[in-house]
Amino acid sequence: MSDIDILVSEVGPRDGLQSIDAVLPTDVKNRWISAQAEAGFSEIEVGSFVPPKVLPQMADTADVVKHAITVPGLNVAVLVPNLRGAENAIAAGAHKISIPFSVSETHSLKNVRRSHAQMFDEVRAIAERVADIEADKRPHFEAGLSTAFGCTIEGPVSEDLVLRSAETLMECGVAEVGLSDTTGYANPEQVKRLVRKVQGAVGKENITGVHLHNTRGLGLANALAAIEEGITTIDSSLGGIGGCPFAPGASGNIVTEDLVFMLEAMGLRTGVDIDKLLAVRNILSEALPDEPLYGFVPDAGVPKGFQEAQ
Ligand code: ZN
Repeated sequence: MSDIDILVSEVGPRDGLQSIDAVLPTDVKNRWISAQAEAGFSEIEVGSFVPPKVLPQMADTADVVKHAITVPGLNVAVLVPNLRGAENAIAAGAHKISIPFSVSETHSLKNVRRSHAQMFDEVRAIAERVADIEADKRPHFEAGLSTAFGCTIEGPVSEDLVLRSAETLMECGVAEVGLSDTTGYANPEQVKRLVRKVQGAVGKENITGVHLHNTRGLGLANALAAIEEGITTIDSSLGGIGGCPFAPGASGNIVTEDLVFMLEAMGLRTGVDIDKLLAVRNILSEALPDEPLYGFVPDAGVPKGFQEAQ
């Protein structure tokens, strides 16, 4: 991490693809991941270990992980909903395992059919399983506090509940927690306040990343707010794929291309070669011709002399 300031963690192959109906063939996913690593990305969330019946787009995650771990220097992240998914992730050799914990219990019950108490048990079981692995082979296990900024079912989510959840998740044995704006409700002031509060509750070293959506156009502003509070990992997706069907024109995650441009333009090093990154987009547009790709920088181009002078 020493030669970069901000880690842009690409989540398109997971968050982006799981939100669209088309199933991207395994070889295309693998080419995408390799090309994006080649463009300078050191972490990519390549899939999730969920039942294929629930998300057929993610059915090949074990194979994708097997490819991704051969890419030099790449930290291979996956999402898991439960212990069974974590077992599969460990067997496949993933370097980083994230479990979403929905702070809105209603959302948790609807989404994964588990109460908070049940989720804490699940997290504890995974943490114990992870702790049994030899230290040098042990994956990094973290929990994402989803719906932390608001829930489509419950509306506002209590910040005290976010903090208590973060503390309990740490007690259950996760290596760190992250904040997720699953619903695209967050604003920069709220991001700053909640990041500060969670830092205060669990320690600054135990919250390094945020996962933001751009549903209402505030993704980049929220990312910058998080960075100003000391966050060093920002999730984003290539072409912002997985846009919300209820908000036409709105991308899903923050657009990776725009995020990298903003950071590099501000002198924050990402390790990414933006021209190579923009070329990776062609892999997606060819494989998913009917899927809208978002982003301003890809359309407008990079300013003359950009990155050459840096
Ligand atoms: Zn997401």
